[in-house]
Amino acid sequence: MQNILLPLSYLIGSITFIIGLKMLSHPDSARKGNLVAAAGMVIAIFATIFLYHNENGEPLGNYLWIFAGLIIGTIVGTLAAKKVQMTAMPEMVSLFNGMGGACAMLISIIEFKHLTHGLDAEVMEESAGQFFTTIQTGMFITIVLGMIIGGVSFAGSIIAWGKLNGKIKDRSFNGQHIVNILLLLVIAALTVYMITFRPVTTITFFYAILAIALLYGVLFVLPIGGADMPVVISLLNSFTGVAAAFGGFLYNNPVMLTGGILVGSAGTILTILMCNAMNRSLKNVLIGSFGGNKAGGGAAGSKEQGHYKEISMNDTATLMAYAQKVVIIPGYGLAVAQAQHICHELEKTLEDKGVDVFYGIHPVAGRMPGHMNVLLAEADVPYEKLLEMEDANEQMSSANVVLILGANDVVNPAANEDPSSPIYGMPILEVEKAEHVIVNKRSMKPGYAGIENELFFRPKTSMLFGDAKKVLQDLVAELKGM
Ligand code: NDP
Repeated sequence: MQNILLPLSYLIGSITFIIGLKMLSHPDSARKGNLVAAAGMVIAIFATIFLYHNENGEPLGNYLWIFAGLIIGTIVGTLAAKKVQMTAMPEMVSLFNGMGGACAMLISIIEFKHLTHGLDAEVMEESAGQFFTTIQTGMFITIVLGMIIGGVSFAGSIIAWGKLNGKIKDRSFNGQHIVNILLLLVIAALTVYMITFRPVTTITFFYAILAIALLYGVLFVLPIGGADMPVVISLLNSFTGVAAAFGGFLYNNPVMLTGGILVGSAGTILTILMCNAMNRSLKNVLIGSFGGNKAGGGAAGSKEQGHYKEISMNDTATLMAYAQKVVIIPGYGLAVAQAQHICHELEKTLEDKGVDVFYGIHPVAGRMPGHMNVLLAEADVPYEKLLEMEDANEQMSSANVVLILGANDVVNPAANEDPSSPIYGMPILEVEKAEHVIVNKRSMKPGYAGIENELFFRPKTSMLFGDAKKVLQDLVAELKGM
């Protein structure tokens, strides 16, 4: 019976991962999808703890250690996830991803130690490396690759986490990319040599490769611009998936293999989609140093151009109340201000007055993919009101008012018009097709890309300055009083 139960649990686990991932592709089902996949993971973990027996028929044992780890991890993870602000989510994803990389790296180290267990240096010396030739090549490659990829992912994710919360500054030196390439070549050469020739000093080789992999992880992420961190995190996430899949090979564990492959491929696809949404190549992201160290940092020395006009709260309310169609464009500033609930209130107030209201969601609005969808879903905005960029652009020309709330780069016309702009070619929300454009932000400072936005100076545009939450509260009050 046990012979069937364990593989059956793994099969259920694998299927729930796939179903969960599919459900994540729509905001409507995303929360449930997460729970479905988590339930599968719980089944797989407990099946392993209670049903697994080694080739001698012995159970796993070590229950005290296992449950102590499980309980501490669950408490820390739950508290961190409950406490985290939506704007700090990329940081947390990075930290958790780093833990995944560390796990994969430790699995490889532990399995390597298992292989060499009981062999002291003298015995190794005497056997003149003979011992290492007995290690199966496939298993050795799996252990070493899991260690390298997990190590790079761990070190890189911790640096990404530090950069996103401002603890670590962008650092690069002349020729850093060449040093990085050299380090990669050294890792590859040492690995091929160690696996092919199994020298007496294989253990030293193993730990030297680990140290260089960790160094590479640090140097690889350090020079990358703050604005590109979410892309890098997604890439590192895919590394962790691949490293975990190696663990699956090592333990002949199908659910670990499936989970690892899914994370690896989903992370890769997400990385490509994010690059496409910004119209940049992965190479440009990795060596472009785009966007400074910290979120919303703004460009030093960017100068204002021309004149902009301001609009009063009363005029804004009047324009919106008498509109037939309003499109709201949420951006990073809406998330910072935590204005999602009052934004939903505005939408309901306008609808009560007979106005059609939609949201135009840019794929990289905010600081991570799906940021705006999750934020607005939290405030119970109906999913059918969230239009993807292409659909929103179709609605623009029939909209009377576009209200931009704390968004900047994703509506910057330079992306279409100025070939010298760093964001040239990035698809944008074409807000200027609408009759009136109202922009809410706190100042004339640039957004994440650190560049000027000419939209603010165009004839159709009016600026409504202030913190998004406060402005929306006043606007709703004004509308209700009309
Ligand atoms: P931006 O960072 O371009 O602009 C946000 C604007 O919000 C700022 O100009 C800021 O202006 C304003 N703001 C900040 N706080 C408030 C507040 N409390 N109330 C009102 N306004 C506020 O954001 P977008 O969403 O338009 O663009 C996202 C950027 O992030 C793009 O450059 C994208 O490439 C990048 N990015 C996104 C990723 C993703 O996956 N989503 C991944 C990687 C990068 P002010 O200071 O004057 O208030």
